[in-house]
Amino acid sequence: MEHQSSVTYGNGFQNGYRGRDLSETGVGMKFDFIVVHESAHEWFGNNVSCVDVADLWIHESFANYAENLFVEYHFSAEEAQDYVIGCRALIRNEEPIIGTYGTNTSGSGDMYYKGGNMLHTMRHVLNDDVAWRELLRGMNAEFWHRTVTTEEFEDYICHATGFDFRPLLDQYLRTTELPVLKYERGDGTLALWWESVVPGFSLPVVVRINAKEQRVQVSEERCVVELDGALESFELDRNFYMDVEEVTGTGAGRSAE
Ligand SMILES: [Zn+2]
Repeated sequence: MEHQSSVTYGNGFQNGYRGRDLSETGVGMKFDFIVVHESAHEWFGNNVSCVDVADLWIHESFANYAENLFVEYHFSAEEAQDYVIGCRALIRNEEPIIGTYGTNTSGSGDMYYKGGNMLHTMRHVLNDDVAWRELLRGMNAEFWHRTVTTEEFEDYICHATGFDFRPLLDQYLRTTELPVLKYERGDGTLALWWESVVPGFSLPVVVRINAKEQRVQVSEERCVVELDGALESFELDRNFYMDVEEVTGTGAGRSAE
C-alpha cells in the first residue's frame, strides 16, 4: 500500500500482481507490480491527492498508467502497449469512474485499467511526447502537496496541452459508454464519425486505410476521406481505446461528398 514515503510491501517477492500477469500478455511478469504501482503513488496520490474520494481516479488511473511507462522505459514501447491494451479485458464499463461526491464513495474499479487506457489514448491523441511528459510533471509541480478536484485537473490538462480534452475526460470519467468510430464506404470515399459520445467530442485518431496509416480528425459530423481505390481494409490504431463499427446502406459516404 502507498503510505506516503513508506510503501508497505506485500507481493510475496514475485513478479506480476501476486504472481499473476494482469495483462495476460506475459509483459506483467517482467516486473514486480507492487513496487512499481505503489511507488507511482508517491506522485499521484501522495504528492497530489484528491479532495473527495469520488475523484480517486487522480490516484489510481495515473498509478496504473505509470506501469506502462515503466515497461516502456525498461523494456520497449511495443511491450508497454501490449501491457496497457492487454489490461482492457479487465474493464467493466458498468459504473462511471467518478463516484458520488460528498458521500465518501469512490467510483468504479475501472479507474485502474480504463483510466490507464484513457491516459494512454490521450497521449496518442496529443501526439507530442515532450508535451505529454511536461504535463505529467507539471501537474505534480502545480498541485505540489495539495488536494485537487477533477475539475482542477481538467482545467490544467487543457491549459497545459492547448488541447480541449474536456469532452474526452467527460466521456471516460463520467459515462460508461465507449466512443464508437463508425465508418461507411462510399464511391471512392470513406465517411467517418463518432457515435455514443458526449456533445462536442471531436478528436484526431490514427487509422490504417488499405494498410496506409494516417491521422484523421473525427467529430460527430461525417467527415469524408478520399480513397485511391476501393476500400480493402480499415483499422483503428490499437492505442486508441474505442470501438469501431462499419455501417452499410445509408449512402453516407456518397451523400457527404
Ligand atoms: Zn493504487
